[in-house]
Amino acid sequence: MGDMDKKGYVLSGFTFLLMIPAILIVAAFADMTKTGEESVSTVLQSDTTFFAVNDVEKNVEIVALDVLRESADNITVTGIPLTNSRSTVKGILQTKIDDFTKDYTGYIGAEEVKCTILKVDSAPDPFKLEVDFNVYIKKGKIVHKETIRQYVDINDKKIADPLPFIKLKSYGMPERDDNAELILYGSSLFQFLNSKGMENAEVYNGSTSPLFIKKCPYDPYVSHGNGNSFYVLKNCIYGKYFHESSDGACFMCKLEGRATCKHYGMETFIISLSSHKSTQIKAPCSSDHVIFNESAYPGTSLEYRCEGDDHYILFLDNGHRKKYGLPEVI
Ligand SMILES: [Zn+2]
Ligand SMILES: [Zn+2]
Repeated sequence: MGDMDKKGYVLSGFTFLLMIPAILIVAAFADMTKTGEESVSTVLQSDTTFFAVNDVEKNVEIVALDVLRESADNITVTGIPLTNSRSTVKGILQTKIDDFTKDYTGYIGAEEVKCTILKVDSAPDPFKLEVDFNVYIKKGKIVHKETIRQYVDINDKKIADPLPFIKLKSYGMPERDDNAELILYGSSLFQFLNSKGMENAEVYNGSTSPLFIKKCPYDPYVSHGNGNSFYVLKNCIYGKYFHESSDGACFMCKLEGRATCKHYGMETFIISLSSHKSTQIKAPCSSDHVIFNESAYPGTSLEYRCEGDDHYILFLDNGHRKKYGLPEVI
């Protein structure tokens, strides 16, 4: 072996020694990468749970709207109210959510996804309903539990107003016109009011009211009196809107056939056909919660539109005139 070779060998040995820290560094990096992968996979798993909670939440909203729509639609056919709307809707919602979570569990590769509906109730905003539920997700080592309070928006979701169908069932059912988005009362409302001995009940022959729950955008409500020749009020009537009202029933109580309740609720106008008479007369107040209440009271005529001989009239008491910024009667 020559000197060069020896030297070379020594150098190689030294190079190897130099390489040790490098190997250690590489090993450390490799380890870091491994740790990194582990944390990445953890993030992915909890992302799955995060998205799963979101999916469940979205589906609770969609299914709740379906249940409410179907319950109201049934009532427009049968006229039969729900006996306890909160627990009935909760029960149907639970069954439908169970169907969803059963499929969904396999879809996201989880061992268990469970959604327990705790409560369905009216909300502080009458155009929303409160749905409380628990979500339980088990996937691999991750278990996620969460209680969620959701306010489901029922505004403009093609959910029918069930109340007139319940109230008028035995007076000849009103018809629903889905295209016009109106409830057509025919003679049913006249028969109903007449049976209570209300004066001038016949003005409600052929009357209509909005079919679907839709929130009036003219806020504050006193602005209904604004504009020339009741421009805003006319737009409200043609828009087929409902208004917030502490006197009118909330949606959950409407499903039970109640015109008023202790919750913050809603009201709409019942629109009579045009008349050839423009004289100031009294007739049952055009607010739906008044008309369908046990003790309906009269309102005085307010002509909001006139076309030739056709007079379009609402009958309102001073309370409602004040609320909507319309001229009060002395
Ligand atoms: Zn309005
Ligand atoms: Zn209520």
